[in-house]
Amino acid sequence: MPDKTELLSQLTGHWYNFLKKESVKFPTAETRLNQLLCLLDYYPKPVSQDMMDQWIRQKGGKNDRQARHLAWDGWYIQTGNVNTTRMEVNSNLASGELCLVSFKKPNPVWQRFNEIQLSKELKYPGFLSSIRKHKKRGCFMCGRKSIEIHPFANISHSEIELKFAPLCEMCKDWCEKHKFSIQIDENLVARPLIPEA
Ligand SMILES: [Zn+2]
Repeated sequence: MPDKTELLSQLTGHWYNFLKKESVKFPTAETRLNQLLCLLDYYPKPVSQDMMDQWIRQKGGKNDRQARHLAWDGWYIQTGNVNTTRMEVNSNLASGELCLVSFKKPNPVWQRFNEIQLSKELKYPGFLSSIRKHKKRGCFMCGRKSIEIHPFANISHSEIELKFAPLCEMCKDWCEKHKFSIQIDENLVARPLIPEA
């Protein structure tokens, strides 16, 4: 069984060789790093929450049981939890289990999401920084903090400086379908302007 130092140098090597260029984030928090080292140690086998707890305790360190967040840093892990939208679901895993699939390829779900975001940014420059800035608000219309936020440009009036309103897909489709423009107040609430008949 490799020790932590050995695993760390393996992990660093994989990251430098394959994942850094894909913008996968190397964990900076110790908890997250321990979780990744544990997944690497078990690779390619699945790891339950209890196994991870025990592994980290034995090696010395803390576990917050949030290893799933590694997927959104770009690490290619799979889960048995069918409710996830941020990584692939592997039906051979139990709900609380995670497994590292590859240390050469990034999480394909995360990668696809980034590609879509990038294409939106090319079409609507400034959109990405705008959704980052208003992350807590989510969709300006319904407030959902869906991971899929779209730029909506048909703004008739806004109290804040804004080129596109971040809307979820449902709200955006609804406005487009009815040809509604929106007005935005100072609390980042967007309301549709219903044209007079
Ligand atoms: Zn919405």
